[in-house]
Amino acid sequence: MPTTNTPSSNVPPAPFTAGDYRARMARAARSAADAGLAGLLVAPGPDLVHLTGHRPVTTERLTLLVLADGRDPVLVVPTLEAPDAGHAPGAPALTLRDWTDGTDPYTVAADLLDRTGRYGVSDNAWAMHLLGLQKQLPDTSYVALTEALPMLRAVKDASELARLEAAGAAADEAYGEILKVRFSGRKESEIAADLAHLLLSFGHSQVDFTVVGSGPNGADPHHEAGERTIGRGDMVVLDFGGLKHGYGSDTTRTVHVGEPTAEEQHVHDVVRAAQQAGFDAVRPGAACQDVDRAARAVVASAGYGEYFIHRTGHGIGVTTHEPPYMIEGEERPLVPGMCFSIEPGIYLPGRFGVRIEDIVTVTETGGRRFNNTPREMAIVE
Ligand code: ZN
Ligand code: ZN
Ligand code: ZN
Repeated sequence: MPTTNTPSSNVPPAPFTAGDYRARMARAARSAADAGLAGLLVAPGPDLVHLTGHRPVTTERLTLLVLADGRDPVLVVPTLEAPDAGHAPGAPALTLRDWTDGTDPYTVAADLLDRTGRYGVSDNAWAMHLLGLQKQLPDTSYVALTEALPMLRAVKDASELARLEAAGAAADEAYGEILKVRFSGRKESEIAADLAHLLLSFGHSQVDFTVVGSGPNGADPHHEAGERTIGRGDMVVLDFGGLKHGYGSDTTRTVHVGEPTAEEQHVHDVVRAAQQAGFDAVRPGAACQDVDRAARAVVASAGYGEYFIHRTGHGIGVTTHEPPYMIEGEERPLVPGMCFSIEPGIYLPGRFGVRIEDIVTVTETGGRRFNNTPREMAIVE
């Protein structure tokens, strides 16, 4: 393991303010009203972090933010957690409605809702909580928040973009360091541990995944790093990311141990050209599916279309996978401030895989990458 230095990108960004969060909640409530919803019900998780800065634990005890256009946001909380609910750093003070153990929390929440309303519910709300509400209010109806408002968190503001850029730069630094380690004779799990250590040392607070797919394992796009020993001649897919300052990184490079064959080099060249074509398709007003089409066309015309077995990309923000998705059928337009991955791949079953992934944001003039390490195939030892 090489020693790591302290990069300048570890300087923490200015914290979000209560005003930032209040503006997000107001915008979300207005979007819900525009979508014909009576409001939004937000459980602990990424939506709540984004809207309020609050990070309560997710448990069988009901915690729920109720947002409705023109009304004050209200947080339903267990009484024993109420003291903490008002004190997340930078978070706005919310009106609390607490409930104590032994009482029915759903009657408290139900008092805040329209009896016949249709509500957007955060995707990760527990079924038991939604079912508890439905029992109290049988004439209400619910829709998943990403179905009702898939673009709610999609367009990032300047301070969010700065965080995503810093996360990308940290992942790039991790990649630069991993190229210096020995691959041959070591297990995938050891390289994965190196990557996790590097992400943390470059300022990540959380590692979400460290895919290390060597040789035939690279043909499985989400292969978990395992006990396979990497050898000379192996292609190795490295896909890693997590959260830094609360925002995600996610990058993939495919390296080779020793000199590649002509076929391996060719497949890598095709994926690199596809990734570039996807990037070149990024501009305001283009559809999400245009990015997928541009990348896929390059892979297909090289004869590998059937081996590109996943969508081209996904959004990123306070999570490492979220809308918008770069996939056929997603006709929503790209808007400046959206951030997502472009990650075409070719997977030859039983042989090897190649994927190249950058996080990209939409600007007025086209795409801008948050991952800027060389996309040429690196040769490792
Ligand atoms: Zn090889
Ligand atoms: Zn990835
Ligand atoms: Zn990804």
